[in-house]
Amino acid sequence: MCSNSGGIIKKISSSLEKKEFSCTEITEKYIDNINKSDLNAFVNVCEEEALNIAKKIDEKINSGEKLSLLEGIPMSVKDNISTNGIETTCASNILKGYKPIYDATVWSKLKENGAVLLGKTNMDEFAMGSACETSCYGRAKNPHNKDYVTGGSSGGAAASVAGNLSAYSIGSDTGGSVRQPASFCGVVGLKPTYGSVSRYGLIAYGSSLDQIGPIAKTSEDASIVFDCMCGYDSHDSTSAKVDYKNTFEHLNDDIKGFKIGIPNQYYDGIDSEIKSSLEEAMKKYESMGASIEYFDFPEVKSALPVYYILACAEATSNLSRYDGIRYGYRTEKYSDINEMICKTRSRGFGDEVKRRILLGNYVLSSGYYDAYYKKAQSLRSVIINAFDETFSKYDAILTPTSPVSAFEANRKYSSPEEIYLADICTVPVNIAGVPAISLPCGFDSKNLPIGMQLIGPKFSEYKILNLAHQYEVFTQYENNKCLQMGVIL
Ligand code: GLN
Repeated sequence: MCSNSGGIIKKISSSLEKKEFSCTEITEKYIDNINKSDLNAFVNVCEEEALNIAKKIDEKINSGEKLSLLEGIPMSVKDNISTNGIETTCASNILKGYKPIYDATVWSKLKENGAVLLGKTNMDEFAMGSACETSCYGRAKNPHNKDYVTGGSSGGAAASVAGNLSAYSIGSDTGGSVRQPASFCGVVGLKPTYGSVSRYGLIAYGSSLDQIGPIAKTSEDASIVFDCMCGYDSHDSTSAKVDYKNTFEHLNDDIKGFKIGIPNQYYDGIDSEIKSSLEEAMKKYESMGASIEYFDFPEVKSALPVYYILACAEATSNLSRYDGIRYGYRTEKYSDINEMICKTRSRGFGDEVKRRILLGNYVLSSGYYDAYYKKAQSLRSVIINAFDETFSKYDAILTPTSPVSAFEANRKYSSPEEIYLADICTVPVNIAGVPAISLPCGFDSKNLPIGMQLIGPKFSEYKILNLAHQYEVFTQYENNKCLQMGVIL
């Protein structure tokens, strides 16, 4: 069932309709895979709930009712997306035991469409990290080589899809957390336009940068999930009221005449094997009738400091609510409220989260506000304008998703910046609020996946998914080893 194909959602759906297997059987199979796996992709498995939903879907099938495409498809949700009554911890000790009393809008939309939730996936604590190594549950492992990282922060989500532990997954992307782990694990990750998918119920990291997006085996699968998740939501004040184009209907549009820009600066300091894979992909696009043109994008050079200043400043504010009073963990021994808050936060948060809270407070403090926060805000406008200008000339731009492929786990870093630098290709997109997709485009000499990134103007998800899908079809999914890795039933 996992041979070269458009994806696995349509396949599972049609097998359910044809009664080749039941929803209970496929759900049990995924749960079995999860229980046998040592990838540490899940932090919480909802076996009972999943089987209850599967039973209801089987009753529906047996009564002859038609299913929608996502109905009965076993999937997973990152542990920072609220699921009513199901523990949601952001992989942090401070939220252990916290069960939300409402569903995030994305999850309620998928639930209404019959999604079968297998469980919550591992992640970097509060989505802060690039390797899924800051989780309080320990790191998730890369299914292509378990000694290597999955990428982060949605590392568990990407590993769960690549390792056949869920058909698709939902992650969040503040500076690359959907795209970079997708790239490291050889699957597809879509970061939608800011405002196109509701953030209601997503536990905030950097509110002006956060977006929820799907991680899937192929662009077709990502498109099906995105079409279900997007749309205006009155619960989210940043939600966009626009006419959302159905991306699935555009997957097979002709891409002849498409103009693809190649920003020179994104290719500086990139691993040579990644660069050659991307160059191969460019040639393929040319063979499909698109044009390729190199251009200068110097503004990208300031993206990393801008991102880390803004993300940390916003995180400082968002994380101030974890004080031991309202949510999760509270220290046992304290003599007054100040000591309680101090001890709770010192023990509840991990080192990376504390580092970012300190950094955020520093850039927001009165003496440094103008020099850092204000300057970062004005540079943000410069980057936004540069993207606007770029998209007046090109339909999309093509870049690596990451300057390196997955790195070895448990590496010792000389400084935190060493790992922050690896985010250079993904963060500009969040700064500008534009959509981008990462898809597999080859393997390096260590047999680890390489990802390429297609970036488009706001609300052009239908175009970048179309471009990605056409590449997959043209190459007959040959770069997507995950389609062949393991058979579900
Ligand atoms: N690696 C980046 C960070 O640590 C991005 C994380 C994310 O997108 N959530 O901030």
